[in-house]
Amino acid sequence: MSLTVGFVGLGNMGGPMAANLVRAGFSVRGFDLSPAGCDAARADGIVIADSAAAAAEGAGAVVTMLPAGRHVLDVWNALAEVAAPGALLIDASTIEVESARKAHTLAAARGCLPVDAPVSGGTGGARAGTLTFMVGAEAPAFAAAEPILKAMGKNVFHCGGAGAGQAAKICNNMILGISMIGVCEAFALAERLGLSPQALFDVVSVSSGQCWSLTSYCPVPGPVPASPANNGYRPGFAASLMLKDLRLAQGAAAASGAATPLGAEAAQLYALFEAQGRGGADFSAIIELLRGRPAGDESR
Ligand code: NAD
Repeated sequence: MSLTVGFVGLGNMGGPMAANLVRAGFSVRGFDLSPAGCDAARADGIVIADSAAAAAEGAGAVVTMLPAGRHVLDVWNALAEVAAPGALLIDASTIEVESARKAHTLAAARGCLPVDAPVSGGTGGARAGTLTFMVGAEAPAFAAAEPILKAMGKNVFHCGGAGAGQAAKICNNMILGISMIGVCEAFALAERLGLSPQALFDVVSVSSGQCWSLTSYCPVPGPVPASPANNGYRPGFAASLMLKDLRLAQGAAAASGAATPLGAEAAQLYALFEAQGRGGADFSAIIELLRGRPAGDESR
């Protein structure tokens, strides 16, 4: 008989992730507060339970994919009450390192095997089953979780113990936020200097300024046809989600005493962008703020 996996949080990411577990042969019992999320999941072969606890009862593993740390801690408290001893609890949400560590402690106290496993790859990666998982867990929990994570992703990295997956995720996204702003500043400067975007791209993509924000996600239309700049800056990865991750990085920096001055600046720029009502645009649209263009000009 196939392993039963509970899945709580069937939203933009969790819905397609749970569907990939079904495709891989797991029996998936899901729950979401949103009836629309439940209906879509049902159509993908997920059995819908009445509550998070009911989704977890008798399951060998439960995956959570929720908005923020407070939701994860609430749900994990309920799951740990009913989960079988030795059951895996895997949280794939992006949350504070501190909340992830608290979740590990409460699950371990109940005899469960806790795993923090945030992802990169976005909704496209969730649908295609090509997510990257960054995992914080003890070795036995990692070994048990790996086949489940591999059914939803391409790369699975064991980063260390409790909270290490969240630490890797926010460090990566802090680099991404900073590097995107750097690339956008260069394109905005090039425009003022009369240098064409394509000429700048051609030079930098094979020079020392090369980075993912330029070569895979170019913030101006043209050089990288698949980047959101060619599609009116529709996300992709929304600026509001980038702001969330930059704020998580700032919280972790403050708590640990790390100096992250450029991360702080990036968080402030994305906060300004969101305050202008542009949080739903792709995060590469921050180039418009740096050009001094008003909200609503994203597609120009
Ligand atoms: P979403 O808002 O689409 O989905 C979250 C779901 O959780 C919603 O359907 C909501 O109804 C449900 N929910 C909230 N509280 C609940 C509860 N107590 N019980 C059951 N269900 C509950 O969000 P998303 O885009 O799927 O993101 C989920 C997580 O993944 C977030 O932590 C986000 O930061 C992270 N993430 C998102 C992306 C992305 O591109 N969307 C990429 C990487 C990581």
